[in-house]
Amino acid sequence: MTKKAVITVIGSINMDLVTIASRFPAQGETILGEEFHLIPGGKGANQAVAAARLGAEVHMIGAVGADAFGTELVRALEREGVHIDNIKKVPNHGTGIASITISEQDNRIIVVPGANHSLLPEDIERCESIIANSDACVLQLEIPMPVVERAVSLAKKHHVRVILNPAPAQPLPRELVEKVDFLTPNAHERNVIFEHIDAAAFADKVIVTEGERGVTIQKDGKSMLIPGFRVPVVDTTGAGDTFNGALAVALSKGMSLEDACRFANAAAALSVTKLGAQGGMPTEEEVKRFLQ
Ligand code: ATP
Repeated sequence: MTKKAVITVIGSINMDLVTIASRFPAQGETILGEEFHLIPGGKGANQAVAAARLGAEVHMIGAVGADAFGTELVRALEREGVHIDNIKKVPNHGTGIASITISEQDNRIIVVPGANHSLLPEDIERCESIIANSDACVLQLEIPMPVVERAVSLAKKHHVRVILNPAPAQPLPRELVEKVDFLTPNAHERNVIFEHIDAAAFADKVIVTEGERGVTIQKDGKSMLIPGFRVPVVDTTGAGDTFNGALAVALSKGMSLEDACRFANAAAALSVTKLGAQGGMPTEEEVKRFLQ
């Protein structure tokens, strides 16, 4: 892997507000929690950081509010070397947040999209030359669907590879599926996205992530498992995001789909050995060493 991959990520930027408590409060009850953490997140930002750590030149297109979280999140991306010029600051919406409560029994999450939902198709059109000069565009579904559709159309116009991570799950329009090169759902998301369309017609573009098992792709009309790696698990948050960022980098470097999935499985496995979505995302050197 020598040439630097150029990746454009179009997606969400959130602050994760993580509370750790021994249990959830009952209705109307107030309890004391044990820990609170502010952790940069959002699938878009996570995938941008994953690709940047792996040595890619990454452009992030997204939106934050004109508030302290927005400023901090943009700075955090900049520290990772991500190009931030096309992250717009919107004055009348708060930065997106995910309120996450973790107890011994379960996790509960409320996402408030805020500024992420004020991203417009026009914002993408302004970035046409960046998209055109990318090796790959990476998208998820935490921004408005018309923005996703515009970005995918522009990428296709310029023959740029598109990876769509269809999360959170929603049924996809057939024209969108036709244009993307790869979809990376987990098993639940795969069922939802193909609710109105014939999944068999698009089987070749679907990479199903299956947690520690790895991923399933189609080869010569048959399902093929690219096995995951057994590691000591600390926190699986963001494993899918690491996989997507790494897949984009590996394909952009010219790897075959099988080799790229193996590389992305390794990067995602390393990411679950540390706390936080972005905390364990590995560098290219770390993945190479792990695969030796
Ligand atoms: P998330 O939303 O938490 O990011 P996801 O459901 O989108 O997860 P998963 O299928 O859980 O995605 O994980 C994505 C990839 O990460 C897997 O295909 C695998 O390569 C890697 N992975 C996930 N969990 C583990 C694990 N426990 N051990 C090793 N690798 C893992």
